[in-house]
Amino acid sequence: MALFCDVALPVPLDMAFTYAIPAGMEPVVGGRVLVPFRQQRMSGIVVELHDRPPKVKAKNVIEALDLSPVLDEQLLKLGKWIADYYLAPLGEVFRTMLPLSAEFKRTITYRITDTGQMALHLAGMSGSPARSRRTHQEQLVEFRVLDHLAERDSTREESLRSATHVSKALLAGMVRKKWIAREDVSAARDAARTITVAVLLSGEPGAPAHPDESEGSAGDSPAVAEAPRPRSLSTKLNLNQRTLIDTLAASGGRIPVEALRDLEIPRTTLSTLVKRGLVQLVDEPQAFTVSQFKPRRSPFEFEFSSPQKEALAKILEAVQSHKFSGMLLHGVTGSGKTAVYLAVMRQVLEQGRSSILLVPEIGLTPAMAADLHHVFGDEVAILHSGLTNAERAEQWHRIKRGEARVVVGTRSAVFAPVSDLALIIVDEEQDSSYKQEETPRYHARDVAVMRAKMAGAVVVLGSATPSLESYYNAKKNKYALLELPDRVEQRPLPAVEVLDMRQEFQETGHEQVISRKLAAEIRERLEKKEQVMVLLNRRGYSPVVLCRACGKTLQCKNCAVSMTHHKRERKMECHYCGHVAHIPDKCAHCGSEYVYFVGTGSEKLEELLHGMFPQARIGRLDRDTVRGREDFERALNALNEGELDMLVGTQMIAKGHDIHGVTLVGVVGADHALSLPDFRAAERTFQLLTQVAGRAGRGNTPGKVVLQTYFPDHYAVQFAARHDFAGFYDKELQFRSWMHYPPYSAIANVLIRSEKLDEALTWSGELGRWFEKTRHEGIRVLGPAAAPIIRLKRDYRYHFILKSPSREKMNTLLRAMLAEAAARKIPRTQIIVDVDAVWLM
Ligand SMILES: [Zn+2]
Ligand SMILES: [Zn+2]
Repeated sequence: MALFCDVALPVPLDMAFTYAIPAGMEPVVGGRVLVPFRQQRMSGIVVELHDRPPKVKAKNVIEALDLSPVLDEQLLKLGKWIADYYLAPLGEVFRTMLPLSAEFKRTITYRITDTGQMALHLAGMSGSPARSRRTHQEQLVEFRVLDHLAERDSTREESLRSATHVSKALLAGMVRKKWIAREDVSAARDAARTITVAVLLSGEPGAPAHPDESEGSAGDSPAVAEAPRPRSLSTKLNLNQRTLIDTLAASGGRIPVEALRDLEIPRTTLSTLVKRGLVQLVDEPQAFTVSQFKPRRSPFEFEFSSPQKEALAKILEAVQSHKFSGMLLHGVTGSGKTAVYLAVMRQVLEQGRSSILLVPEIGLTPAMAADLHHVFGDEVAILHSGLTNAERAEQWHRIKRGEARVVVGTRSAVFAPVSDLALIIVDEEQDSSYKQEETPRYHARDVAVMRAKMAGAVVVLGSATPSLESYYNAKKNKYALLELPDRVEQRPLPAVEVLDMRQEFQETGHEQVISRKLAAEIRERLEKKEQVMVLLNRRGYSPVVLCRACGKTLQCKNCAVSMTHHKRERKMECHYCGHVAHIPDKCAHCGSEYVYFVGTGSEKLEELLHGMFPQARIGRLDRDTVRGREDFERALNALNEGELDMLVGTQMIAKGHDIHGVTLVGVVGADHALSLPDFRAAERTFQLLTQVAGRAGRGNTPGKVVLQTYFPDHYAVQFAARHDFAGFYDKELQFRSWMHYPPYSAIANVLIRSEKLDEALTWSGELGRWFEKTRHEGIRVLGPAAAPIIRLKRDYRYHFILKSPSREKMNTLLRAMLAEAAARKIPRTQIIVDVDAVWLM
C-alpha cells in the first residue's frame, strides 16, 4: 500500500502536491481526493502513488472520493499532454476535463448485498462471526452495519456512520468483500430540475400497473409520496375527479401536474384523489428536451451523392482498421456533410463503439439536435453551454456508465469519458470557439487529433472553409483529403454580386447602410414571398459616440474601447467587459452638447429595415435578442415556418442553418474586420462571407448574395464572391509564408497585464531584456509592444509574439521565461501564455 500520493490541484501553479495517505484509505490514480490546501479543502486528481517522503512533512488526505478512476489512463495522458503543450497547470487542465463541480454536495449511500445477507445469516446461525484474523471488535462493527442495512433499502453514509460508528476504512473493506454496495447518488440527480408527475394507480382502466421503477433506486427516493393502497373502483367520483382520471388514463397514466392546470379543475381535486389512493404524485428529473425544433426528414431518406458515398466509405474503412487516421472533409455549403457524419456515427454505434461529434457553440443548431435525437434516440448525450452544472454532470455519468455512446457537444465534449472510442468528428473545424480563451487555453480541434492518436481512432475535420492550418496539413498528406465539391440535388451555389460602397457614396452623396441595389433586391423577394437574411456583424444601435466639438469618443472606464449605444435598453455598453453607463447628453471631456451617435449596429439595421419595409415581418438574431438557446430556436423556427420574412443579425445567422425559403442574403459591413491588426483577419472575413453566402438558395429556388463592401478589391472578398477556396488558400498561404505565421511557424502570444500601468511596463520591460539577452536561435520574439487593445477589464496590457518553426524550442523558451518571471516575483496570474493564439488583440 502506497504511503503518499501526488495530487494535481486546480490552482495556478505548475506542480503537483504530495499528501500522506492515512491507514486504510485507498486513493486511486485518476480518482479524486479531498485534501487540505491553504486553510481550505480542495479536491484534486491523484496522479501518482508512491513511498517517497517529501522534504517537508506531508499533510493527510482528508478523503478519497472515488473508488475507481474518474479519468482513465488515456484521459490522464491527454491531460498531461495539454498541460505540457499549452503550458497550463495540470490541476486546472483536469478541472476543465471533469464537469463534476456540482458533485461536492453528493450523497453516498450503502445497501446490503446478497452476499452480505448470507454472511449475516451464517453469523446468526453459528452464534458468532466466522473465522477471521481480524479483531473481534471490528467484526462486531461489521455485523452492526449489516444488521442496520438489512432493515432498510439503503442508507446515507452519514446516518450509517452515526448509527454504527463504522470507520470509512472498514466500510471500504466491506465493499471489497461485496457484503455491501456503495452507491453514488450524485447531487447531479438531486439538483437536476424536477417536475411533479401525477401517476394513475392500478385499478383504473388503461392505467399502468406501477410507475416506471427502472429510473434508479426508487425505494431510496424521498420524492415518492406516501400513498395508501388504491381502493376499489366502485368508489364514486364527482365530475371533476372523473375528468381528471379520464385525462390521466387517456395519456398513458401519467401527466405532469403542470399540464393538468389547463383543465381548470381545482387543485384540491388532485389532492383528494391522492388521499383516496387513486393517484400518486412523483417527482421526476425533467426529461432532457433535446429540441423543440420539428424533426425534418431523416437524413437517410436522401439519396447520397457519389462524393458523399465515397467519403463515407473512406471514413468507415479507416474506422475498421482500428488505427489512428486524420481526415479533412472539405465540402461546400449545402453539400451534405452532416448526413455523412450521421451515417458514419450510426455505423460506429452499430459496431458497439463510441463516437464524439464536436460542434461550435452556435453551430449546435436545433435542427441538428433534432436530427441526432431522431437517429440515435437515448444513445446520444448532448453537451452544450445551456446545461446547468448538475445536468452536465448527469450527462457525464451517463457517458461514463456506457449508456450514451454517441456524444455531441461543444469544445469540452472532446473530454467525454467514452470507452472504445472509434471516431471524433470536428464540424466547422475552423471555428474560433474551439479555442478556450481562459486557462487552459487549449484548442479542441487539436486536442481531438491528439486524443484520436492516443486511442487509435479516426478524426474527421469537416468544413466548407477549412482553416489554413488544416488544409495545409491535408495538402502535405498529414490528413486524407475528402472533397464534396457540389451541393446536394445539384443545387447551384448562389450568385454573389459585390457592391462597391465607395461608389454608392459618390453617386448618392451620403453614407448608405442599405444600398439602392440591395433595397431593390429585398423588395423583389418580399413581393415573391421569399425570405431574406441580412448580416451586419456588429450588435447594438451605434458603435461610437463622438463629440463634434473636441473629437473625443466615449470610452469604457475599464477598457480602451468605445462604448456601444443600445437604444431600446437605453444604455451604453462595453462589449468587452460588460460595463454599462448612461447615455450621455453632453461630452464628458469638454462639456459640449454636440455629441453624435456614429455608425450602425444590428439594432439600428433592424429599425432601418422596418422603416423601409413596413409590411415585412422582421426578426433579429444577435447576443442582445438571444439570451438562451430557446430564443435562438424560436427565431430559427419562425423563419423555417415562414412566420418571418426577414432575419437580420450578427454572425449568429451565418452558421449552419438550413432554411430552405431564404433566397437572398445581404451582407452589410462584414468587412470592417479587414482593417484589424490581426494576421487572421483576411481568413476570418473569407470564412464569414462564405458561410453567410451559403445560407442562400438551399431550397428549390436558386439563391443570390449582395455583398456590400468598402474593400471590393481585397482578395478575401474577391475569392469569397467566386466561391474559390483554393484560390484564397494559395494567396493567403503566400502571405503567411512571407510573414512567418502559421502554418509555417508556431506562434505564441505572451501577455503581461496589471491594473497598474507602471507594473505592466516594468514587468514587460524586464522580460523584454531577458528575451534579448537569451537570444534563442530559430525563435523570433517581437515586443514588448502595447497590445492592440491596450487596456481591457481594468488591466493595462503589453505583449510579446513568439514565432518559431520548432514548437519544441518555443515551448522550452516559454518555460524558461516563466521560471525567470517567478524568480523576479512577477505573479503567475499576470502572465498569460497563449500557445497557438487565435486572437492577437
Ligand atoms: Zn467634447
Ligand atoms: Zn469595458
